[in-house]
Amino acid sequence: MATVDLDAIADNVRVLRQRAGTAALMAVVKADGYGHGLVASARAALRGGAAALGVAQPTEALALRAAGIQAPVLTWLVAPGADVRPLVEAGVEVAASAPWVLDALAAAARATGTPATVQLKVDTGLARNGAFARPARDGDPRTDWSDLVEHAARLQAGGAVRVRGVFTHFAYADAPDHPTVRAQQEAFADAVALAERAGLDLELRHMSNSAATLTTPSAAWDMVRPGLAVYGLSPVPHLATAAELGLRPAMRVTARVAVTKRVPAGQGVSYGHTYVTSRESTLLDIPLGYADGVPRHASGTGPVQVHGRRFSVSGRVCMDQFVVDVGDLPVAAGDEVVLFGAGDAGEPTAQDWADAAGTISYEIVTRFGPRVPRVHVGGAT
Ligand SMILES: *Cc1c(COP(=O)(O)O)cnc(C)c1O
Repeated sequence: MATVDLDAIADNVRVLRQRAGTAALMAVVKADGYGHGLVASARAALRGGAAALGVAQPTEALALRAAGIQAPVLTWLVAPGADVRPLVEAGVEVAASAPWVLDALAAAARATGTPATVQLKVDTGLARNGAFARPARDGDPRTDWSDLVEHAARLQAGGAVRVRGVFTHFAYADAPDHPTVRAQQEAFADAVALAERAGLDLELRHMSNSAATLTTPSAAWDMVRPGLAVYGLSPVPHLATAAELGLRPAMRVTARVAVTKRVPAGQGVSYGHTYVTSRESTLLDIPLGYADGVPRHASGTGPVQVHGRRFSVSGRVCMDQFVVDVGDLPVAAGDEVVLFGAGDAGEPTAQDWADAAGTISYEIVTRFGPRVPRVHVGGAT
């Protein structure tokens, strides 16, 4: 079971807004609210003062509208051939990385009689999506970005689309002293200037994810765009813990022991017997596995708390279950074990699981799938 504290989400948004100074905050709720529940997380973030919501996929944006959420929503991963008409009709803002997105939006706007609102995505050095802002060839001043801006300015003059903002994304925001952080800020300033010279009157200019919001306040511009930190996890675990940043992890994952058994010394445990008991011991079978989101890479290392004490996964994580050797600790079937939580009662955190599995906390929380019920507590759900 994953218990999600909606008050933690609202409070984290308040903390992030303070860090953002006068900039507005767009709470990123893609990937089912980083596994915390799309609509409930969105409502909690709005309660904490988010001015807008950001998602990757159009279906996520439409799900927010279907739930009755009227706040500004931006979706930034529209694929070629996608039907953008429902987005225009629902008043969802769409990010454009290439001219074809603008053409699709303009066509939908003409067909529906509703102007489309767009934000232009500029690639200032991540080299992922966005229109590349550096000339690809020596001696040619034109860039994908200048082409996109000119195209947008023409369509805006014709009334079919309105360009509300421009944005970009950092490659290395978790290393605030890395030279790319400054270089991308300079490239973004140039990209903004080019758009403004082309006649675009930009209401929103934004670039900061969670790490930049917390470590590079000079990048805040008009809006910040945090995701991970909204859910109370540190985007810079090597620099500061969530608690040090004033954030509270919102997700707590627990399970009930399915089976306990007493086994002798020398018993191999789980597939491949990669763990062998060193003495007579009690084994707990926990009914969560990699199909639920427990990383198989945390075999032998993933931390759990049982009756206030810390243990590790014993042997391999299976599809539906894993085993924990608790020695002589008295535990009964049905007792609760904690995989991770806020960490303030000695329980492991999502960051501890990330360290155990050799990954990042983003992946830990977003992996918990539909087999794990979400229970939302706090706030007006
Ligand atoms: C996911 C994402 C964010 C949020 O990033 P965090 O590191 O979770 O704060 C912001 N902007 C874009 C474009 C994203 O894809």
